[in-house]
Amino acid sequence: MQLRNPNLLRGESYIAGMWQQGEDLQTFAVLNPATGETILNVADLNDRDAERAIAAAHAAKPGWAALTVKERAKLLRRWFDLIMENQDDLTLILTTEQGKPLAEAKGEIAYGASYIEWFAEEAKRVYGDIIAPPNNSQRLFVIKQAIGVVASITPWNFPNAMLARKAAPALAAGCTFVAKPAHETPLSAIALAVLAEQAGIPAGVFNIVCSSSAPTIGKVMTSSPLVSKLSFTGSTQVGKTLLEQCAGTVKKTSMELGGNAPFIVFNDANLDLAIKGLMSSKFRNAGQTCVCTNRIYVQREIHEAFVEKLSTAMEALHTGNGSRAHVNIGPLITTKAVAKVTSLVDDAVTKGAKVIYQAKVDTNAGDIDTHFYPPTLISGVNKDMQISRDEIFGPVAAISIFDTEEEVLASANDTEFGLASYFYTSDISRVWRFGEALEYGIVGINEGLISNEMAPFGGIKESGFGREGSKYGIEDYMEIKYMCLGGI
Ligand code: ADP
Repeated sequence: MQLRNPNLLRGESYIAGMWQQGEDLQTFAVLNPATGETILNVADLNDRDAERAIAAAHAAKPGWAALTVKERAKLLRRWFDLIMENQDDLTLILTTEQGKPLAEAKGEIAYGASYIEWFAEEAKRVYGDIIAPPNNSQRLFVIKQAIGVVASITPWNFPNAMLARKAAPALAAGCTFVAKPAHETPLSAIALAVLAEQAGIPAGVFNIVCSSSAPTIGKVMTSSPLVSKLSFTGSTQVGKTLLEQCAGTVKKTSMELGGNAPFIVFNDANLDLAIKGLMSSKFRNAGQTCVCTNRIYVQREIHEAFVEKLSTAMEALHTGNGSRAHVNIGPLITTKAVAKVTSLVDDAVTKGAKVIYQAKVDTNAGDIDTHFYPPTLISGVNKDMQISRDEIFGPVAAISIFDTEEEVLASANDTEFGLASYFYTSDISRVWRFGEALEYGIVGINEGLISNEMAPFGGIKESGFGREGSKYGIEDYMEIKYMCLGGI
């Protein structure tokens, strides 16, 4: 990897402002998912290392919380500037460890950084309240204070942005932070720590613990009395385990879990706009995002035209090693991920779905063919097929036909998940009626790209709780304290 700033590529964890190999001096290999090559061997930390990181964050907490919001905002702004100055290197690290095409990786770096910029600003806009007292001898005040030490566990699909989205509001609020990145993609997280150090964020405020054993570190984070909050992004299954573990110390939690996003196209929709929205909401990160379209519902009269337009649009998808310039679909993260997508499509086809279009994979010598799945369009999908219940996490567009608004609403809401949803219509009454009836935390209406730092991102039902970004995001990292002054 040719980096302008080679210091960004490191294999140590960052604890108490020091770069650490971990007590056991063990390492684990971080692989390039396109080629299977080892990029770097990264220090493999154990439970006692994690405890040290938590202790460091706990020790740094009073000093960090005592800074003025302007002082914290300045340090966060500096961190943001350094990330953007190093955007190209961070992009290369991200594509190499995660697989997504360079243009998308570059977008992720800017997207992740935008949360740091935003919360540097929002830190200054935390307000309390003065409440009318029940009698004149009292005065009632509400203030907001940093929760304390925040632990975070983040996934491999956005190794930079998922971490930035949590660290930014936490640090802005005055919390200190211990992050455990996914073991598939720790390098982007480590690079963020390099830049946090360079930005002058004090020792112990932002710590990274890399480990090949997520359950080991997770147990320490969820049971430590020094950790006040766990912020998790990942699968619903692991989220539930972590929630159970957090119950022991009654920790606050934010949970960004799985999704099963419906994408609904009504007869009166602008089809070209719908195709554009679908291409971005379905195929971003090769379909590996929790807000990716999972179930496509198209109204009967426009089904044929829609499928034709979609097959044509999908011809622009080029699958291969994400570091090649024209590639816009990279590998899936593991062979296991490819096997899962394959089995979902096989199950659908066995139960009657038709493959309408399947792209080709264009790998280089040295790429692992079994890590790539060709973008595929299937139609005739129904709710008995596993593909309409599971998160696909791959580049497969699965279409069902519907007849009425009532019917499609019932289908869309017929899932335990409630993260993102999308629908396309030109009927303004339906925009409100349908938007309000969808049981989702996020609704894209005539829009397929819904996430930005100014908007609240988060789900309902088994997709979790808590919101990242927006004016609401910082609240998740603050406690409300009510003070009652008497004897006046
Ligand atoms: P994904 O399917 O996206 O990998 P996971 O929920 O398995 O979703 O992983 C998300 C994050 O949770 C990763 O950092 C992973 O290492 C971590 N993780 C997985 N299992 C556990 C666990 N039992 N305890 C703590 N963290 C876990």
